[in-house]
Amino acid sequence: MEGLEGTLAELRDTFKSGRTRSVAWRKSQLRAMIEFVQDNEEEMFKVLDQDLGKHPVEAYRDEVGVVAKSAKLSLSCVEKWMAPKKGNLPLAFFPASAEVMPEPFGVVLIMGSWNFPISLTLDPLIGAISAGNVVVLKPSELSPACSSFLAEAIPKYLDPKSIKVIEGGIDVCEQLLQQNWDKIFFTGSQRVGRIVMTAAAQHLTPVTLELGGKSPAILDSSSNPTNMKVIAKRIVAAKWGSCSGQACIAIDYMLVEEKFASYLIDLLEKTIKQFFGENPRESKSLCKILNKNNFMRLLDLLKDPLIRASVVYGGSVDEETMYIEPTILLNPPLDSQIMTEEIFGPLLPIITLNNIHDSIEFISSRPKPLAIYAFTRDETFKKQILSKTSSGSVTFNDTLLQFVCDSLPFGGVGQSGFGRYHGKYSFDTFSHEKAILQRRFFPELEPRYPPWNNLKFQF
Ligand code: NAD
Repeated sequence: MEGLEGTLAELRDTFKSGRTRSVAWRKSQLRAMIEFVQDNEEEMFKVLDQDLGKHPVEAYRDEVGVVAKSAKLSLSCVEKWMAPKKGNLPLAFFPASAEVMPEPFGVVLIMGSWNFPISLTLDPLIGAISAGNVVVLKPSELSPACSSFLAEAIPKYLDPKSIKVIEGGIDVCEQLLQQNWDKIFFTGSQRVGRIVMTAAAQHLTPVTLELGGKSPAILDSSSNPTNMKVIAKRIVAAKWGSCSGQACIAIDYMLVEEKFASYLIDLLEKTIKQFFGENPRESKSLCKILNKNNFMRLLDLLKDPLIRASVVYGGSVDEETMYIEPTILLNPPLDSQIMTEEIFGPLLPIITLNNIHDSIEFISSRPKPLAIYAFTRDETFKKQILSKTSSGSVTFNDTLLQFVCDSLPFGGVGQSGFGRYHGKYSFDTFSHEKAILQRRFFPELEPRYPPWNNLKFQF
């Protein structure tokens, strides 16, 4: 990584010049991003297939389309977002005015992840550009085709003096983290999140940490058979239909009432076959496991005989092709790795409870998840879930869609991370809100000045 210092000096000079603050620059970059997506759609499908075996439809839904939508929204709203907002003042301040003015942080580091290597790298970039920052973009080395595509293509479209793509692995991340950034936006694991935060603390750099964890789905028995078919589709979509469960908001495990479990498992089996065929290994709709390390990590989760005994569907693996069949486990031990660590793969444990209301205690006694899904029509139960658990988001009666609602902030809480983005929240995440107060010299309120005496209390 020769020349990192020079790269950062160039970015600082660009930022100091004020160029990136103008609405014209921001809009030109957002237009360029839209053009980049339009011109490179096929190429992005290709590299996403190479790295993850993502089908173009899934790639469009989760990656290309997300970036296009985000850039278009930011382009249409950026001027409004940039405008200072008037603040209210008490009468005693009169005559005066108050404003909150968003300003860019400066030089920003964005570290992307490999599971959505296009959207989770470029969507934060759109936020950083909208807010007027200069950026170093570090795509994940674990999705190498996407990383080199971004490193090659981005400079052809976006201002190369303001946006740099730096490729590399852990050593490069370590060097980047030693630098003095004005903001770091990191997507990845809790383990590396701690490393990022420790490094940022040396320079008091603000960070956004988009981490993971175990996101549960609760299913009560209030749904009729027609709705249950829809529910099964939404569950299968959230476990196997988006990067084969290698997604931060994938359902990690399910909580259901005991009497309901076999009915659910039967429906899930049927739905898996409907989505991925009798032999999912041949399905083009199922992403591959990223690499040998992740494959071995998932095998490790399955190797304990007690865990093997809990497999009620699937469970076959092929080391040569790194294939793991969509797998359902019923009541694996709660202290096993599969129930204490984020799964991040195509394995779905189902935990049965005597009473579905116990799910609240189950979830709230564990680290705060990124997402909670709950399938229920019981409004009182919904209120209890909302008030007695904490999570980045709660989605009732569906899955994953919270991620694509621009009007909702996306981010974690507790160990699933902190900070948020998407839509206007992305702009806010990459902006400092500067408070501005303006006064005149008359009238003057003498009681605010010493010498103090008791009469001044009455004022
Ligand atoms: P990771 O944390 O292992 O790696 C992320 C990046 O950190 C990589 O680029 C890697 O080079 C770097 N890194 C690794 N070790 C480092 C070190 N010692 N020092 C400095 N940098 C280092 O994460 P991952 O395996 O790429 O992604 C999986 C995790 O990311 C899961 O936990 C998942 O839930 C989470 N995730 C969260 C979101 C979200 O939006 N909240 C999205 C996707 C993934």
